[in-house]
Amino acid sequence: GATIQLENLTKSYPGSPSPAVEDVSMDIKAGETVILVGPSGCGKSTTLKMINRLIEPTSGRIRIGDEDVTDMDPVKLRRKIGYAIQSSGLFPHMTVAENIALVPKMTGWSKSGVKDRVEEMLDLVGLDPREFHGRYPRQLSGGQQQRVGVARALAADPPVLLMDEPFGAVDPITRDHLQDELIRLQHELHKTIVFVTHDFDEAIKLGDRIAVLRERSHIAQFDTPEAILTN
Ligand code: ADP
Ligand code: ADP
Repeated sequence: GATIQLENLTKSYPGSPSPAVEDVSMDIKAGETVILVGPSGCGKSTTLKMINRLIEPTSGRIRIGDEDVTDMDPVKLRRKIGYAIQSSGLFPHMTVAENIALVPKMTGWSKSGVKDRVEEMLDLVGLDPREFHGRYPRQLSGGQQQRVGVARALAADPPVLLMDEPFGAVDPITRDHLQDELIRLQHELHKTIVFVTHDFDEAIKLGDRIAVLRERSHIAQFDTPEAILTN
């Protein structure tokens, strides 16, 4: 993992009377899982998308490790950041293998390197490569789609993993399994994870630290689950 520093991040969408995210600063340690939890509309996704350069901040800086990535080329940034979203975000016209291969290919991996990596990633998320390799997303269950989404996000071995309600669209039992899997993965891989949810129980279960957000992503509390539960 790598450290992440958010310095006074603000985002005002054009035409909105008030900013969606206002003056957010946060220091995230290498290898920790930080959960952003808060009500719908409080700016969690906007914050995550600014880190991933899907949205330009109106002001403020973002550092990953010792590098300022605020103006970094998005393709270069994909070597540093994996991104997994609700409903998996898989491309429906591509097979499982093609979806997972996307970012390694984009960042210049060799053909054989990519092929091996796809198998390794499917194993990692508990899907048999021989069975799932050639399937299309619509031929998978919701939980399997989310697994492939996580495999894709991890495929180029980025130090940082951003997850936006990744288990929001699956049934409660599958969700519980996927949460356990993520905890197992995290023990193995030590990525720096920023995970967005509106589910407080999920935050408590998965977080090393939890940022409780209010409107415009104002940080009400930023602490360990134990400390937050006793306050
Ligand atoms: P959350 O992820 O916590 O639900 P979002 O970051 O999606 O919150 O949204 C924060 C605020 O910004 C909301 O008021 C939302 O309506 C607004 N917003 C989000 N995306 C856009 C956009 N593309 N244009 C204008 N307003 C937006
Ligand atoms: P949405 O339209 O739901 O907001 P996004 O703009 O967040 O979707 O992302 C578009 C697609 O690009 C998604 O399928 C997402 O998974 C993928 N994507 C975005 N950033 C990355 C990244 N850093 N690594 C891998 N895939 C990414």
